[in-house]
Amino acid sequence: MTILPLHTNGHVIARQNEATVLRVDGLQPLVSGVAHRCAVCDRRPEFEITEDAVQVQDPCPYPDGITTEITLSVPSGKIIVTDNLRPIYRVDVDAFACYNSTLGQAQVVEAMAAIGCAYGPVGNTCPGLYRTGPDSYVIAKPRHDDHDNPSLPEEACLATICTNLWAYSIADFEHWKARGGDPDKLGWSETIVDVPPGTYRFIHHSGERGFDRDGPDTVIFAHIELIAKGRRVRRLIASAWAHTRRLLRPQRDRCPSPPGPSSGRFTSIGG
Ligand SMILES: [Zn+2]
Repeated sequence: MTILPLHTNGHVIARQNEATVLRVDGLQPLVSGVAHRCAVCDRRPEFEITEDAVQVQDPCPYPDGITTEITLSVPSGKIIVTDNLRPIYRVDVDAFACYNSTLGQAQVVEAMAAIGCAYGPVGNTCPGLYRTGPDSYVIAKPRHDDHDNPSLPEEACLATICTNLWAYSIADFEHWKARGGDPDKLGWSETIVDVPPGTYRFIHHSGERGFDRDGPDTVIFAHIELIAKGRRVRRLIASAWAHTRRLLRPQRDRCPSPPGPSSGRFTSIGG
């Protein structure tokens, strides 16, 4: 048994850059002490083992992690803001990479946007939707100083998101109703927010390499910006789905964990 330096080629498979190599006469050397799949791209690493080091052969396709960009049409000028909009908006997470990976989460963000829901993983942080300008917003968790003053002004907070599901989910209120959402059943955890009608771009950051959702400073999960004003609904769902299908790949030998409330640049268009 030998401990050797590990060159991950950009994959996230170990806390420390070293691996244990087991050599048994007559058998291929075994590498242990590393994850079976990359936490970012969800691929199984193929190792090249020399006397001096263990090297992952193929580079991670997402060395900087994944920034996810989607758009959401809000022709009604009202959005419903909460953690969980299932079952009104639900996708088959089994069709994607493991949800515990950055790629799997990005694919779910994409697929949810394609059916009209701006969705993004935020962990169990209970963030808020904050207005930062006339046409700009963030999903963020403010920092609090020693006197419990938040780093983002409370009057700018349009909605707080209770993260029983470790995510935010935002949809056009009328679109949500048209798909079966019942306003009479709204609870304390859903907030209806008036915004200018139009199309909004969400740039979601939690998949970026080095993103720390539990960091000490203000954590911004998503930047949101009005990019086109108006009440005209953009009927681009079909093209968005076509784009999403291109991101899909067969998922055999999946990780056993269920898609849970947890954690390149993609683009799609929400309905
Ligand atoms: Zn990788």
